[in-house]
Amino acid sequence: MISLVFLGTGGGRFATISQVRATGGLYLISDSTRVHIDPGPGSLIRLKEAGLDPTKTNAIIVTHCHPDHYTDAEVLIEAMTHGCKKRRGLLAASDSVLKGHQTLGPAVSDYHASKPAEVKALKPGDSFRIDDLKIRATKTFHSDPSAIGLRIESKDGVISMTGDTSLKEEVFKEHMGCDVLVLSVTRPLQARIPHHLATEDAAEIAKAVKPKLALLTHFGMRFIGANPEVQANWVEKETGIRTVSAWDGMSLTLKEGVPSVQKGVSKKQADQAKIAVDLDDYIQ
Ligand SMILES: [Zn+2]
Repeated sequence: MISLVFLGTGGGRFATISQVRATGGLYLISDSTRVHIDPGPGSLIRLKEAGLDPTKTNAIIVTHCHPDHYTDAEVLIEAMTHGCKKRRGLLAASDSVLKGHQTLGPAVSDYHASKPAEVKALKPGDSFRIDDLKIRATKTFHSDPSAIGLRIESKDGVISMTGDTSLKEEVFKEHMGCDVLVLSVTRPLQARIPHHLATEDAAEIAKAVKPKLALLTHFGMRFIGANPEVQANWVEKETGIRTVSAWDGMSLTLKEGVPSVQKGVSKKQADQAKIAVDLDDYIQ
């Protein structure tokens, strides 16, 4: 079984500044690994609230160099490497995050990038394995031109994430055949802006990709004001595909190709996470 915990469902400047929705990113838990995707502002606190231990993270992935996706990356690298004392884990990120791109970034210092066991710069089309997961970076069309989405394959099925992008046919193609499609939808109906998806765009992608479940997240202020549930219902009605607007702290599980949505992190997962690193490791 794989689980995806929503440590935040907010996106864009104003939802982030106000924390009207959290911006802690997504936390993927498989049978043998744990991956934190896009650790934005407050990620560390949201992990603690969910009962998840950041020292047990095996990989941190940052899809692009905007603050709602990267701000907590360094402190979570410190956690993943047990206070920078153990060379462990993987940091995988867009070029902009690791090296900087034009006026953006880098978002991770050379010091922090030198601490994980492995660092990968990801471009669309690149794929790699983390234990039982195969992850491929997918194409996006965003204001950070090196931004990526992610397609995550496991024995229980495929979770695909558009990342921040505008609507293009090339984006559909990247996510075909997935079981669960996570769409970064910043704007509601009739309020499209460049570089992001609006509700109508989410419906178009879902219609083309035909996942078993479409999940909307990364909500901007206007989207939140327009009632995320109403937006999800509109997509579901347009497409005939089950569509859920994510909420902070929810988790999604995928088991043998069957997705289901839960209120929060299961007690078993939280308990497993609480086997923390020996505090002596920190103090030495
Ligand atoms: Zn962005």
